[in-house]
Amino acid sequence: MINESDRARGAHASCIRALYLYGRELAARAGEEAVCDFSLGNPSEPPPERVRDALADLVAHAPPKRLHGYTVAAGSEEARDAIAQDLNRRFAAGAGAADLFLTAGAAPALTAVLAALTVSPASEFAALCPCFPEYEVFAGVAGGRFVSVPAAPDFSLNLDGIAAALTPHTQAVILNSPNNPSGRVYDNESLHRLAALLTDASERFGHPVYLISDEPYRELLYTDAPYPWVPHCYPDTVVCYSYSKSLSLPGDRIGYVLIPPTVTDGKRLMQAVAGAARRMGHVCAPALLQHLIARVADVLPCLDTYRANRDLLYRSLTGMGYRCVPPDGAFYLFVRAPGGDGAAFSERMKQAGVLVVPGADFGCPDYVRIAYCVEPEVIRRALPHFRTAIEEIAATE
Ligand code: PLP
Repeated sequence: MINESDRARGAHASCIRALYLYGRELAARAGEEAVCDFSLGNPSEPPPERVRDALADLVAHAPPKRLHGYTVAAGSEEARDAIAQDLNRRFAAGAGAADLFLTAGAAPALTAVLAALTVSPASEFAALCPCFPEYEVFAGVAGGRFVSVPAAPDFSLNLDGIAAALTPHTQAVILNSPNNPSGRVYDNESLHRLAALLTDASERFGHPVYLISDEPYRELLYTDAPYPWVPHCYPDTVVCYSYSKSLSLPGDRIGYVLIPPTVTDGKRLMQAVAGAARRMGHVCAPALLQHLIARVADVLPCLDTYRANRDLLYRSLTGMGYRCVPPDGAFYLFVRAPGGDGAAFSERMKQAGVLVVPGADFGCPDYVRIAYCVEPEVIRRALPHFRTAIEEIAATE
């Protein structure tokens, strides 16, 4: 017998993956010029030069046995130290190596934390919608319940909505800033208001309501305002991070869970994270990548291309009459579909070879997501199709 829910999850690729595969097939049939692929959040920029040089140097000169051998489950002391030092320098995080557990990216970091915090089938994890579709999958697989809370109309924090969603079963709220798919970055003031709300709920319920700050886009910021370090706003914050986007290493898989020293019961929670990861088959994060991060934890991405893409797309689409909030971070534009049906609009654009993701997967069926981590010329090729679509839809309304 086969686990039916796993089979169903495996048989139906996510809509994003399905669109991406369609794009690859179309490109093979009709050439790359026939496709404008805005489906996957796969960074178009290569890893920064220092990262590539460090990798080449490691492979050429580090003793192979050490380079490819197992590390302890939490990750090498050297890599965790380098990460802690970088976080302390940039955010005054007060972190040490013992507060970090290295994982194969943000997805396993999230699954381990959600599993570690699931104490019964009634355990709840709330997140603002639109959000990364996998949160619901991860919470379900952990054995808990995902609770979706609509964001405010401009995709800022809907604090009243979060307050209404909190119950004695709420184990954590998941926060993602900069946000996939809206590009929203939550400011210091709203984070402090959220913190007050969670502190109050923790007191009322008699247990900590943790904040899980999922931050793979933390370094992809287009504003001058510094990134608010979430654990400074709310001490019971657990950070899940990934180098997939910031260092353009999504296929190589490296990230971490950080449980800062301020977290209630933090040491026991770290043990539960390690135990949950072990239960799910974690042995150690990829060793080569750990050695790499030990050398390049302080490297930041160059944002020139993403910023130019964002400006060009946002200016052009809003100029044509599309509606969307200006994104302050990440590399996504979340656009209201002309006609109000994201799936129909995605299908229509697909016929022109322009691949945009229906918003239903993110919890907003009237939107589409455009991942602008692409070559700028892909945007220039796509713009006439966006214009034709909005004009034709307007003509039929
Ligand atoms: N969280 C968010 C909001 C994401 O957008 C992604 C990937 O796109 C992840 C987590 C997973 O990141 P990783 O590829 O490092 O597992």
